[in-house]
Amino acid sequence: MKRVAVIGGGASGLIAAHYCARAGCSTTVFEKQKSPGRKLLATGNGRCNIANRRLEAERYHGHNPRFAGNVIARYGLEETEDFFRSVGIPFTEGERGKLYPASLQASAVQRIFSWELDRLGVRVLLHREVESILPRDDSFQLLTAGREKFGFDAVILAAGSCAGPQLGGSRAGYDLAASLGHRLYEPFPAILPLTVPLKALHRLEGIKWDCGVKVLLKGKTIAEAQEELLFTKYGISGPASLEVSRAVNERILAGETPEVAIDLFPAMNGEELSALLDTVFADGGRTLSFSLLGILKERMPEVLLSIAGVDGQERVETLTPEKRARIVRALRETRILPGGPRPFGEAVVAAGGVDVDQVHPGTMESKLVKGLYITGELLDIDGDSGGFNLQFAWSTGALAGLAQNGAS
Ligand SMILES: Cc1cc2nc3c(=O)[nH]c(=O)nc-3n(C[C@H](O)[C@H](O)[C@H](O)COP(=O)(O)OP(=O)(O)OC[C@H]3O[C@@H](n4cnc5c(N)ncnc54)[C@H](O)[C@@H]3O)c2cc1C
Repeated sequence: MKRVAVIGGGASGLIAAHYCARAGCSTTVFEKQKSPGRKLLATGNGRCNIANRRLEAERYHGHNPRFAGNVIARYGLEETEDFFRSVGIPFTEGERGKLYPASLQASAVQRIFSWELDRLGVRVLLHREVESILPRDDSFQLLTAGREKFGFDAVILAAGSCAGPQLGGSRAGYDLAASLGHRLYEPFPAILPLTVPLKALHRLEGIKWDCGVKVLLKGKTIAEAQEELLFTKYGISGPASLEVSRAVNERILAGETPEVAIDLFPAMNGEELSALLDTVFADGGRTLSFSLLGILKERMPEVLLSIAGVDGQERVETLTPEKRARIVRALRETRILPGGPRPFGEAVVAAGGVDVDQVHPGTMESKLVKGLYITGELLDIDGDSGGFNLQFAWSTGALAGLAQNGAS
């Protein structure tokens, strides 16, 4: 019977182990933490945004994003939904095509996986950190941190990325892949808040607002989102910021200076906003700051007016067209320079990772080391927020598991 080791009991490792066991392999999962699927438990704020109805290749990024397209063409949403239904986890759909387990509980997914692996006879070794993978002629020797040695015919490296260190994220997977000759693209944090050094903005801490956010590089838009923004004491968070953070961090780490432009009224054209301002500026005796309370939340008028360089105590009747234009610009296109990336502890994913040109997209087998398979976020593919990262973990893990044949 073929002996397969799965290094990492996260999303991609769990599904890989399931398929291996179903193919008749003697399957062992090595998990360094006290339980499998700890990151899974934190996904979707505990609800597990397991996949997305609007799955398409364009949702994935990396040096060769076509790899993701090849993967999901072979094991996509239909296969994923069938798999989860077969283990008793039907999906339910939320906004923007986001799919969740019908129970809306990540813990159910983790528990059902554990139960399934037990049923299929998979050995799950906890508190076992694999430190080295040593290829022998037709097999592999694994060494754990506790100096235990194990022999296997194939190894599925599903050790994840360095995002979320509090949930087990580390560089271990990259180091193991590199020790076997794999090329790495330096990981960087993606899907996370952005630091904005502009202090005036920090006074908006706690305010949520539906914004249009654009990332501009040398005047060209390189990423954009129209969603809720949450102002924080250090910068911006919320879905809009998370969505554009990858583009910002990638450019900053490349030594460039991207700008972020915030539009507080993205659903309005210029005339509509002008009419709105006419309404709130109808009483010439009011201060500008007080008048703007008709269309903005508390604290926003003072901050926006200070960014516009206009005195909030000035009366509407003395407002010049030039100052009004500056106010419109602050409402429409406040431009900020984001600071360096925030830590991996705040990131949902790590962009970068193992070069996918050295991996077969149909099986996840390494092109360098026969019998070694690499899956999940460890690879140089990251998806948008909304279930695309778990989908990539399911797809790659499943393909690696399906590639095993217990009889060989
Ligand atoms: C807070 C948070 C929320 C998220 N929410 C979502 C969401 O709702 N939807 C979505 O699509 N994505 C979400 N993600 C991203 C998603 O969780 C990951 O992309 C996905 O879990 C990656 O799966 P993986 O199997 O590659 O790695 P992981 O799930 O990270 O699993 C890797 C496992 O390997 C173990 N390991 C590492 N090294 C070793 C070693 N040397 N020996 C033994 N074990 C080892 C780790 O302990 C870990 O359990 C979220 C991420 C975070 C941090």
